[in-house]
Amino acid sequence: LTGIEVAEKCAYVANRVIEVLSQPVVLSGCLINTGTSIGISVFPKDGREAPELLLNGDKALYEAKSKGRGVFRFFEQSLDEKAKIAHVLESDLRMAIVRNEFVLHFQPQKLAICGDITGAEALVRWNHPTRGVLYPDQFISSAEENGLIFDIGRIILNTACRECQKWRDEGHGSISVAVNISSVQFRDKMFVETVENALAESGLDPNYLELEITESVMMDQSDFVVENLRRLRGLGIEFAIDDFGTGYSSLAHLKHLPVQKLKLDKVFIDGLANDAADLAIVEAVINLGHSLNLKIVADGVESPEQAKILSAKECDVLQGFLIAKAMPADTFLQWLS
Ligand code: C2E
Ligand code: MG
Repeated sequence: LTGIEVAEKCAYVANRVIEVLSQPVVLSGCLINTGTSIGISVFPKDGREAPELLLNGDKALYEAKSKGRGVFRFFEQSLDEKAKIAHVLESDLRMAIVRNEFVLHFQPQKLAICGDITGAEALVRWNHPTRGVLYPDQFISSAEENGLIFDIGRIILNTACRECQKWRDEGHGSISVAVNISSVQFRDKMFVETVENALAESGLDPNYLELEITESVMMDQSDFVVENLRRLRGLGIEFAIDDFGTGYSSLAHLKHLPVQKLKLDKVFIDGLANDAADLAIVEAVINLGHSLNLKIVADGVESPEQAKILSAKECDVLQGFLIAKAMPADTFLQWLS
């Protein structure tokens, strides 16, 4: 657009373009619906040369797309900052994969009834060369967006299986390992093979591997996801639904899926001792889970009082700072001994 006195005039045009293009058209007898997203950069504020204007327009377009369909966005400096940060994180993650900067920490899980340790959840940490230790919420979602989660997830699975086999070799034969699987990973065509390779390389008995999946995976009724769940279950692997109660799972789905455990989210455990609603939810999930033959794991148990209530309500497994925080592999092995 030329001869614009004020940038806001672009908004009027952008809206008109979106409106016109959203009208369905008939092509060879087929009704075609199109959606439009628009990114806007303005000369000279957002760039003095065409390549820079196009690049910034593209960043605005990316932002518009992330807000849903039929939206336009102006370029802003903050988008540039956001894109730069994402770009640096992505290249750092690529290096981290090559340099093997990921480590797994293990958080024990114990049987509520007798206190025996039954397993440990593998939680990834990234030893960043300049930023120090980074936690999963600082990089997993970015890895999901740029696809690096597939490589990172493979490293995590391989390491977790290897460590678990080590505990077994050291005389802790009844301890299984639980690995968090992001929903993006689960939809990967190679996912089953990745798991099979991790088992084959480590020599770990599949009965000692548990995969923690999200409610969104469980709700995905596609043949592909259901088939993957069945194939992996067929190997002997167990499934736990992580953060149970926070998503939108329909309990009706549970009875059709090869799932063995529900992990009650920490938000419910937090309120257990003083919030009647949380207590009611926890009790209901435990009872319902048991009637569907599922084991219940309470995540984020911090106080003896919470543990007491959970045990009284017949929750099966406890995990949380009360038992122990997540530890590096060698510390965990000492802790076990
Ligand atoms: P999550 O699977 O729900 O893991 C439990 C988180 O709660 C862990 O945080 C753990 O350290 C923390 N936690 C456990 N007990 C307590 C407690 O008593 N009090 C408090 N305040 N916190 C407790 P972390 O390690 O930061 O992990 C956060 C999330 O990142 C995990 O949530 C999981 O969804 C994801 N994540 C961790 N490791 C991996 C991984 O290897 N792959 C993938 N895809 N995601 C991972
Ligand atoms: Mg988990």
